[in-house]
Amino acid sequence: MKENGITRAWWVFDYENNEILTSHKALAGLTRHFRSEMPDFDRHEGIFLQVGPETGTLQGVFVHNTNRGQAAGGTRFWFYDRIEDFLFDGIRLSKGMTYKNALADLWWGGGKGVIAVPSNQDRNDPAFRKTLYTEYAKFVTSLKGCYVTAEDVGTLPEDMDTIFSATRFTTCIPEEKGGSGNPSKLTGIGVARAMEGALDALGMKGISGKTVSVQGSGHVARFMTEELLKKGVGSVILHDIFQSSLDTAKAMFGTEPRVKYRLIEKGDMSPLFEKADVVSPCATGGTLNDDTIPKIRAAIIAGGANNQLEDEARHAKMLQEREIVYTPDFLNNRMGIVNCANEQYGYVNNDPAIYRHLNYEWENAIYALTKNIVLDSKKSGMTTYEQALHMTQKKMREPHPIWGNRSREIIRSLILNQ
Ligand code: NAD
Repeated sequence: MKENGITRAWWVFDYENNEILTSHKALAGLTRHFRSEMPDFDRHEGIFLQVGPETGTLQGVFVHNTNRGQAAGGTRFWFYDRIEDFLFDGIRLSKGMTYKNALADLWWGGGKGVIAVPSNQDRNDPAFRKTLYTEYAKFVTSLKGCYVTAEDVGTLPEDMDTIFSATRFTTCIPEEKGGSGNPSKLTGIGVARAMEGALDALGMKGISGKTVSVQGSGHVARFMTEELLKKGVGSVILHDIFQSSLDTAKAMFGTEPRVKYRLIEKGDMSPLFEKADVVSPCATGGTLNDDTIPKIRAAIIAGGANNQLEDEARHAKMLQEREIVYTPDFLNNRMGIVNCANEQYGYVNNDPAIYRHLNYEWENAIYALTKNIVLDSKKSGMTTYEQALHMTQKKMREPHPIWGNRSREIIRSLILNQ
């Protein structure tokens, strides 16, 4: 559909007839691709695409499941060589958000925004970003609230400000405008809690003195390192493909001898093979796969990256067979969304709605859940991923107490109105 210079397309799942409806017959090939080649396609309620009217960038909103409320999840601004890779990322990440939000007891469904970094443009140019995120926000507005966006890889706090100027359907609003700001600090602490839960489940007596090898030295990795240092970690080895990111970490940790820095080549997976107690994937997804798993020597994998398992069932099983404890990413990194999930309800000091997820007592906190999932999986024989999913799926089916089915209605009305 080309309208006012805007090119848009959509896929919607028709639950009554169990089929995918699409805006263009020409998209049928890709539609078949969802079913046959993308195991993560899970009857997503809606997939919406736009070619940015001014920037020409490809932008997508992926709505997976909205039983628990509007689809919520961040916007990724990343590099994709093929449209299939772009769709694959959106489909996987949005499904992961449904799991994450449900397991955290948030009244949100799961969704994700994805924008492809264009090859012919400096992605860091502030004027370009302003135009890009403004047109993207208008796209989000056009979806009438079935999706509520947030920050994710490649999207910066100032981009969230731009988004907020053109849509109300966003979280991670800057603090000076009443929002929750950048969630990375709490996400980093949350990943550290998952490590502690797994270490305690294995009787390994906490973080103290342990070695942690980290893939990526970005926002989450740095705050996680800060928390691990507070807990007496023996050493943290930060790896990154960009010197600038390692330099930011160095500026944060000064001469702290327990933090080590390694610059690596893109594609080098050696951070995962380090002789460490814990390896922590904190960069991109899909790094736990047929090639990497046989070389992992750590007892525990606990990282902040989304979708770490390339193939969830297969690679969770491979890890279990190697007696490596994998802590599910959609539990570890929940603080990103927990931090911004209830912005509209305001804040109190040390907000219990947020901080209880990081304490050691609440049964649904990251620490306790991780510990129980690891222990329960040993009893049940399920992988830790399956064990976590088992808990999640029950919650996913619970409709929002006030607005159950609202977002599906929104999607239906969007399609009826073209
Ligand atoms: P970031 O962009 O600040 O950091 C990622 C770092 O990884 C960058 O420094 C990048 O150079 C590095 N990197 C990329 N590929 C690499 C590779 N192959 N080897 C080594 N380093 C590599 O992002 P972030 O906010 O720290 O997020 C990290 C991960 O955590 C992402 O997968 C993100 O989706 C997930 N996550 C983040 C949050 C949050 O609050 N920031 C919340 C939930 C999930």
